[in-house]
Amino acid sequence: MDVRAQVSMVFHLDKCIGCHTCSIACKNIWTDRQGTEYMWWNNVETKPGTGFPVLWEDQKHYKGGWKVNGNGNGKKDLELLSQNKWDAFIKLFYNPNQPGLEDYYEPWTYKYQDLFDSPAGNDQPTAIPVSQITGEPMDIQAGPNWDDDLSGSNQYAANDINLDALSDEERAQLFEIEQISMFYLPRMCNHCANPSCVASCPSGALYKRGEDGIVLINQDLCRGWRACVAACPYKKIYYNWKTGKSEKCILCYPRLETGQPPACFQSCVGRIRYLGVLLYDAERVADAMKVPDEALVEAQRGAICNPFDEKVIAAAKKNGVSDEFIFAAQKSPVWKYVMEWKLALPLHIEYRTMPMLFYVPPLLPVMGKSENGKYEHLSENFFSGLENARVPVKYLAKLFSAGNVELIEASLKKIMAVRHYKRSLELGDFDIKLVNKIMREADLSPTQAEEIYSLTTLATPYERFVLPPIQREEAMSPTCSPEVCKGCEGFGCDEVPHRGP
Ligand code: SF4
Ligand code: SF4
Repeated sequence: MDVRAQVSMVFHLDKCIGCHTCSIACKNIWTDRQGTEYMWWNNVETKPGTGFPVLWEDQKHYKGGWKVNGNGNGKKDLELLSQNKWDAFIKLFYNPNQPGLEDYYEPWTYKYQDLFDSPAGNDQPTAIPVSQITGEPMDIQAGPNWDDDLSGSNQYAANDINLDALSDEERAQLFEIEQISMFYLPRMCNHCANPSCVASCPSGALYKRGEDGIVLINQDLCRGWRACVAACPYKKIYYNWKTGKSEKCILCYPRLETGQPPACFQSCVGRIRYLGVLLYDAERVADAMKVPDEALVEAQRGAICNPFDEKVIAAAKKNGVSDEFIFAAQKSPVWKYVMEWKLALPLHIEYRTMPMLFYVPPLLPVMGKSENGKYEHLSENFFSGLENARVPVKYLAKLFSAGNVELIEASLKKIMAVRHYKRSLELGDFDIKLVNKIMREADLSPTQAEEIYSLTTLATPYERFVLPPIQREEAMSPTCSPEVCKGCEGFGCDEVPHRGP
C-alpha cells in the first residue's frame, strides 16, 4: 500500500447559479497578466453546451487522456492518446490535435479612451473592440462562455457531444422550447491521480506534489513544448504566448499553505464547493484506470482509502502524511460526499486520468405538484420522475459516470429522498409511510438524510473547508526517502528543483 494525501473538491451542482464569481476571483489573482488574457483556470459552462475551449470533450479530435492497450503478454497498458513513443518527438513540432486560438478566442478589450476623447457630435461615442494581441480593431466571433445560458439553442447546445447518448426523440424533447432545461458546470484542473499532462511532458516540468497531490508546472523547467496542452483531456493547461511557458490552476497553493481556501472557493456565491483531504493508494491507480468504462467509478472508489482504517493510517504515516492531514481526511466533506454517501462523481472518468475533483449531479426531474396547499408526487412509482428528468439521466451518465446510468440514478434517488424526508418533517404534507419507502429504496437512513441535508444546506465555511495549513518545510515526498532512494535526483530531492516522480 502506497497511501498518499490528495486535496480534493466537491461541486454541488444543484447550488451553482452560474454567476461566474469564481472565474473572476481566479482571474483577478492569477491570470490578469499579458499572455494570460484567454486563460480561464476556472470557468463555468452551461450544459448542454459546447464549453471552453469549444467542444473540449471531443477526444476524437483533441486526443487527450489515456487509452487501454494490450501489451502482447495478455496484460493491459495505458498509453497516451496524444502521443506514443514513436511520434512524441515529431508532435513537438507539429501536432494537428493541438487546440488553436480559434478554439479558445482572440482576447480583446475596448478602446475606452475614445469615450472621453471623441469630439462633441450628434452621436454617442462608442468604444470599439480591439485585439489584446495585435491592438488592431477586430470583429468578435467568439469569446469565453459564448454559449452561456443558451441551452436549447440549436446553434450551440445541439453540438454537445454528450447528447450522443440520447435517442432522436429524447433530443427533440430536450430542445423543445417549453422543456428547455440547463445546469452549470464549473470546471478547473482536476489534479488527477493519473495525470496525462505529467506523463506527456518531455522536459519533466510537470509534477504532482507529494504532500497534497496538487499538479504544478515548474516554470524554470518548462520549455513551452505544449505536449501537456494536447494531453490534458480537460484542456486545463494553457500556453502563455508572452513567456513561452505553459500554465495551469495551482489550486491556490500559496493560500492553502497559510490555511486559506482557494479564491474560487472563498468567493463562491452558491457555496457549492467543498474542499478536503482524500487518502488514496497510489499502487492501485494504474490498474483502476484499465477497467472497462462502466466500472471506472467503482475502481476509483476502490483506490480511495478509508481514513479510519488503522492499516491505512500506518501506511500514510510511513509516507510522511502528517497527523493533521489524517485527521482532516477523517473530517473531510469530500470523503462524505464521494465515499460515505456516494453522491459525488468524477467528470469524464473515461479519460482515465483519475480526476480527483467530484460533482454532485444536478437534480432536474419533475417530482410533483402542489394543489390546494397539498403536495402530490406525480406518479405511483416515486422514482419514475427520474425517467422524465428534464435533463435525461443518460446525458448526466455521459458526463459523470462514463455512461453508467445506475450510478447517477443512485445519487439522484438519494437527493430526492432527502428532499422529501425533510419536507415530510417540516411541512407534514407528505405521507410518512411513503417517505419511509422512498428512503429504503434510496438506501438511506434518517441519520444519513439529516447529515446530507446539514452539509448541503447549513454548513459553515469551516465545515465546507477542512484542511490544516500545509507545512511545506515539513513536506516529504512519498516517492523519495533515504530508504527508497534510487539516486535519480528526482522529485523531492534537494539537489535539483522538484520534478515529477
Ligand atoms: S485536469 Fe489537470 S491534472 Fe488532470 S490531466 Fe488536465 S492539467 Fe493534468
Ligand atoms: S461562484 Fe459558485 S455559484 Fe457562482 S458560478 Fe462559480 S461555482 Fe457557481
